[in-house]
Amino acid sequence: MTFDVAIIGGGIAGLALANDIKDRGYSVVVIEKGNYPRHKVCGEYISMESHNYLQNICPALKQLNLPAITNFKITTGNSKAFNTPLGLGGFGVSRYLLEELLFEEAKKRGVVFLLDTKAKEVKRDNDLYTIKTGTENIFSKLVCNSSGRRSNLEVKERSEEVKGANYVGIKYHVKLKRDPNLIEIHNFPGGYCGISNIEDDKACLCYIVNSKKLNEAKNSISELEKNSLFKNKQLKKIFNEAEFLFDEPVTISGINFRIKKPVNDGSFFLGDSAGSIAPITGNGMSIGLRSASVLASLVTDHFSGKISGLQLQNSYNDFWNKEFSTRIRLSRHFQKLSEFSFLTAITINLFKAFPLLARGIIKLTHGKPF
Ligand SMILES: Cc1cc2nc3c(=O)[nH]c(=O)nc-3n(C[C@H](O)[C@H](O)[C@H](O)COP(=O)(O)OP(=O)(O)OC[C@H]3O[C@@H](n4cnc5c(N)ncnc54)[C@H](O)[C@@H]3O)c2cc1C
Repeated sequence: MTFDVAIIGGGIAGLALANDIKDRGYSVVVIEKGNYPRHKVCGEYISMESHNYLQNICPALKQLNLPAITNFKITTGNSKAFNTPLGLGGFGVSRYLLEELLFEEAKKRGVVFLLDTKAKEVKRDNDLYTIKTGTENIFSKLVCNSSGRRSNLEVKERSEEVKGANYVGIKYHVKLKRDPNLIEIHNFPGGYCGISNIEDDKACLCYIVNSKKLNEAKNSISELEKNSLFKNKQLKKIFNEAEFLFDEPVTISGINFRIKKPVNDGSFFLGDSAGSIAPITGNGMSIGLRSASVLASLVTDHFSGKISGLQLQNSYNDFWNKEFSTRIRLSRHFQKLSEFSFLTAITINLFKAFPLLARGIIKLTHGKPF
C-alpha cells in the first residue's frame, strides 16, 4: 500500500499532524521509535494560542478539568521577584497524558501506527518516497518528519552549525500546595526552573541548566541541585516542601537551539525537527502544533490540486521562516542571559520599573490563537 502521508516521529507535532490530515480524508502512517504513554522532559505549559486547535484534533481534552495558567512570577537567588498577569496565558497538561490522548484519537480516526519502529532512511524516487525501517519498507506520496531535536535522520545540509552552550533538561512531577493559576520561573546560577500545575492537582517541576554545571557536580543531579538550584531560596523551599512522584527524574542532554531548513529534498519538517526554541521565551509545543495545522491545510490544497508540489514546499518554507526563525534566534540570546542571576536581577528591576515592558515581552513569546 502507498500512504498519502508518512509521518516520522509521533511526538506532539507528529500526532497533531496525523490527526489533522486523517480528518481531512487522507491515509496516514506514523512511524514512532517508542511507545505510549511515556514521560518527556518538558515544562508542560501550553500557551492558549493552541487551545482550540488541540480540542478540535483531540476532543477528549474537553472532558478534562485542566488548570488555566494566568499569572507569571520570576525570581532570582537574591530573593528579587516580579509578578505579572500573563495576557493570553496557557494551560497545563502532562506530555504523558496529552500524547496518549492524541494517540488514542488518531487510532480511532484510522491512522496506522508502526510503534517501537525506527525510521532509518528516506529515499525519494520522483513522487514516491520509501522509508526504510530495517525490517520493512513503507511507501508514501509525502513524508513529514517530526522526529524531534536530535534525530538519526539528520543531514548536514539542513542545519546550521551548533554554536554556544549545550543544556541539560530535568523534570519531576510533584504534589505541592501552590497557586494553580501561576507559572513560576526561578533563576539559579547556570539555568532556571519552571513550576506550573498540570492535571490531577499535580505540578510539573522542570529545569534547564548549562551542562557545565552538571559536569562540575560530577554528573550527580542531587549535587547539582544542592550546589546550584538551592542558591535560590524560593526554589530550595519548593524542593523541600514538594512530594516527588517519580522515583527518578526524567532527563535529557545535548539541548541546543538550532534553526534547520523546514523543507529538504521534498520532505517537510515540523516541531523541534524544524528548529527548537529556548523555553524561556518560547512555547515549543505551540510552534509544533501551529506548524502541523498550517502543513495539514497546505497538504490538502496540494492533494486537491489547488497548489503544485513546488508551491506546497515554497509556501510551507516561507510560513515557517517568517513565523519562527527570528523568534528562535532571539530565544538563544535570552537563554544565555537567563543563566546569569545578576542579569535576571537587572531584568526584574527593569520589569518593576516598566511593567508594560514585561507584558510586551511575554506577548512576543505567545502567538495568536489558531
Ligand atoms: C527543559 C524544556 C522545557 C520545555 N518546556 C516547554 C513548555 O513548558 N511548553 C512548551 O510548549 N514547550 C516546552 N519545551 C519544548 C517542547 O518540549 C518541544 O518543543 C516539543 O517536545 C517538540 O515536540 P516534537 O513532537 O517536535 O518532538 P518530540 O516530542 O521530541 O517527538 C519526536 C518523536 O520522534 C520519535 N523519533 C525520533 N527519531 C525517530 C525515528 N528515526 N523513527 C521513528 N521515530 C523517531 C521520538 O521517539 C519522539 O517521540 C521545553 C523543552 C525543554 C528542553
